[in-house]
Amino acid sequence: MSVDEASIPETTAIVIGGSIAGLLAAAALAPHFARVVVLDRDELPESKKYRSGVPHGYQFHGLSVGGRLAMEALLPGFTDAAVAEGAPLFDTSAETRFATKCGFLPRQPSSMRTLTASRPLLEAITRRETKKIDTVELWANTAVEGLAATDGTVHGVHYRGADSAGLLEAALVVDASGRASQAPKWLEEVGYSAPVETVINARWGYSTAYVRPEPAFSPDYGALYVLPTFTGSDPAATRGGATWKQEGGIWGITAQGCAGDLPPSDEQGIREWFVSIGADEIVTLMDRGELVSPVQAWRNTANRLRDFAALTRRPESFIVLGDAVAAFNPIYGMGMATAAIGASILGEVLTEWQADSRGSYAQGFAELFQKRLDTLIQSSWSSSTGADRQIRGVKVNGVEAEDMGPTPESELMDRVLALAVEDVDVAAKFMESRQSVRGPEWLADPALQARIRADWDRLGTVRRNGWED
Ligand SMILES: Cc1cc2nc3c(=O)[nH]c(=O)nc-3n(C[C@H](O)[C@H](O)[C@H](O)COP(=O)(O)OP(=O)(O)OC[C@H]3O[C@@H](n4cnc5c(N)ncnc54)[C@H](O)[C@@H]3O)c2cc1C
Repeated sequence: MSVDEASIPETTAIVIGGSIAGLLAAAALAPHFARVVVLDRDELPESKKYRSGVPHGYQFHGLSVGGRLAMEALLPGFTDAAVAEGAPLFDTSAETRFATKCGFLPRQPSSMRTLTASRPLLEAITRRETKKIDTVELWANTAVEGLAATDGTVHGVHYRGADSAGLLEAALVVDASGRASQAPKWLEEVGYSAPVETVINARWGYSTAYVRPEPAFSPDYGALYVLPTFTGSDPAATRGGATWKQEGGIWGITAQGCAGDLPPSDEQGIREWFVSIGADEIVTLMDRGELVSPVQAWRNTANRLRDFAALTRRPESFIVLGDAVAAFNPIYGMGMATAAIGASILGEVLTEWQADSRGSYAQGFAELFQKRLDTLIQSSWSSSTGADRQIRGVKVNGVEAEDMGPTPESELMDRVLALAVEDVDVAAKFMESRQSVRGPEWLADPALQARIRADWDRLGTVRRNGWED
């Protein structure tokens, strides 16, 4: 059967998945389509709620500054709405205590502002602000089961809801269904090869709980993150932790471990975990405060890349973004920002496409978008996997990797970290990069490179000692 182009509603776009990536994609699509339909197999409640469709929603979700700014650009008023719900907003560099393996970064005033809200609140506000766009429809409890494609073009999706099932047609279909995405299978079903998949697993795990602090608790920071040191044989080599304030005066606490050293999932167990690494502040917070929700563990932390950009054959009018393309080890806090910046790129590519009067999306839009998105994905992927590749026992596609360990890039990055601990200017640039508001170009600065080369051996020995900054 040949699809009758006139029967495809050119003005409809479909988004599969109504979480962070899907909602932001809908906001990016909205100026370009008369109708944007977001389908999610899960409920999409009005208020904040843990959803089974986002089982990781209980865990710590730090939104980087660049991610927040991308969300704000797509959904103006996003930050104010979160603050109105009680989410703290504070100076990122001055009020975050952040420790790499080399030590704590110096704190200093900055123009960056960090928003620390629970994942359910971030999602509820994203949902609420997206729903305000007249042309966006959210279809809850409606699972997408496959693609409808004819003559090399995707022209809709097969869906099943509680009361109805059928074919929904559109000129462009966007998959934002997260780590659970079935896109490779759907591509095979319509006659295309699945993308090459790479999984890098440094065997990290999380355990998170929430605490109402004692009334006297008033630290001079809004968030504290301490990464493992990755070297040596003491517990700090594989163990880290974090605590942060969020809405309602509640503080989250997370124990994080790598190389298979996974934090326990009970209160006494994580207390002992924090004791083992000298995280006295978190121990005191737990002892003097009240645990308001149980400890919950999360283990699915592998980096997974599906290389849609490299497909040599692909159906037209079908694109993929968010965790469905690249899901990162959450410890590095890049997923939401990459989803948000990816949605902004979608908006830019749509604007260019229309400005160039390139016509139907069935004429190369999918390849153009996927390749444009890939620059962002590769940058996030190399920072997330660059660190994980050095962790003992890291597995690549299920096999313990033999050629892991330091690379020239990681050797250089270790020294940049060491310098950041000692130098406020380097610390500022490092923090801006980590917060997705500065690209990596500053690392190639000849003056910085020369400084590092001149002090190479000493910088290579700088290691953090405990939790004191
Ligand atoms: C433990 C953990 C901690 C994390 N911490 C951070 C952090 O600190 N900072 C950060 O930036 N990121 C973090 N992330 C990553 C972040 O959660 C994701 O990158 C972000 O949510 C973007 O995901 P997404 O919207 O692509 O997918 P998801 O949030 O996974 O949403 C996918 C949506 O698709 C729906 N869906 C799935 N299949 C179908 C289907 N067939 N039909 C219809 N709907 C479907 C689901 O119901 C769901 O709503 C963390 C992730 C994990 C696992």
